[in-house]
Amino acid sequence: MGAELLDGKRVAAEIREEVAEEVRQFVQSGGPKPCLTAVLVGEDPASQVYVRNKSRACDKAGIEGRTLRLPASTQQRQLVDTVAGLNADPKVHGILVQLPLPSDGNGGSGFDERAILDTVDPMKDVDAFSPVNVGLLMQGRPRFLPCTPHGIVQLLHRQNISVAGKHVVVVGRSDIVGKPMAMMLAQRDGTCGREVANATVTIAHSRTADLGEICRSADCLIAAVGVPQMIRGDMIRPGAVVIDVGINRVDDKLVGDVAFDEAKEVAGAITPVPGGVGPLTIAMLLHNTLLAARLQNPTD
Ligand code: NAP
Repeated sequence: MGAELLDGKRVAAEIREEVAEEVRQFVQSGGPKPCLTAVLVGEDPASQVYVRNKSRACDKAGIEGRTLRLPASTQQRQLVDTVAGLNADPKVHGILVQLPLPSDGNGGSGFDERAILDTVDPMKDVDAFSPVNVGLLMQGRPRFLPCTPHGIVQLLHRQNISVAGKHVVVVGRSDIVGKPMAMMLAQRDGTCGREVANATVTIAHSRTADLGEICRSADCLIAAVGVPQMIRGDMIRPGAVVIDVGINRVDDKLVGDVAFDEAKEVAGAITPVPGGVGPLTIAMLLHNTLLAARLQNPTD
């Protein structure tokens, strides 16, 4: 049996069109043009591509996408001051510090990443990394939702996939994907989209015993691990919904955390890599930038 392919690219295009229309209406009703500023430190090629893609996506949505480029030699203090300057600039509505920050060449990061992210004004924190925004989500009254999990919520919602009362297994417990994903799906009410809340959620990680068995008990399996193709076909319950968050470069090709060819024979529905979760992340970043502009400039 071939699984239904969940087309993240198509859903992301739909969301981007909606955001573009909402931006148009916001500006027409007297709001400023929303502005997202990405801070890019160093020359990491993948980060340059990500930032360029985000900037292009902003343009298409009628959002001003600025990139502030700093050399790899930038010091912690300078970076903190740069972010503080963006916090104080009323023309900047959203701030994004592109990760990873360059390392010091000795294996460790030259930056205290946490301290830099904590500097971002929570009202401009379109990545939803700040403790304030994480706390609001935890309490079921989110301001900004983190882009990748929010994109997944939108994908499920728009494909009419309900996880209410179902068992969702999230493999991965990062602050960016795994933890907020689990939290959003377990919410009691419709705060993060009624159709995708009320799941019974298990979080798995590298210390989980019997990972295969736990995965096989999932009605919906979300893999956010960063290990190419580690979720094999025999770890999937027949008919399950499989969401592959992984983006891994192997022999110059992008592959997910799920062994797609095996998984698609077992799953009921599955996201491809590329073209699954990735495009949704950028779409939700645009959504958050508009939301930030609205919150900072209420027009009614
Ligand atoms: P991360 O911070 O490295 O976290 C990985 C998680 O996977 C950790 O919780 C780790 O467990 C767990 N893990 C590692 N090996 C495991 C194993 N063998 N068995 C079970 N769990 C294991 O990664 P991330 O930032 O969440 O990203 C995960 C993947 O998603 C990456 O491929 C990344 O590129 C991709 N990603 C994609 C998007 C997108 O837009 N599509 C956005 C963000 C990330 P421990 O906590 O025990 O170490």
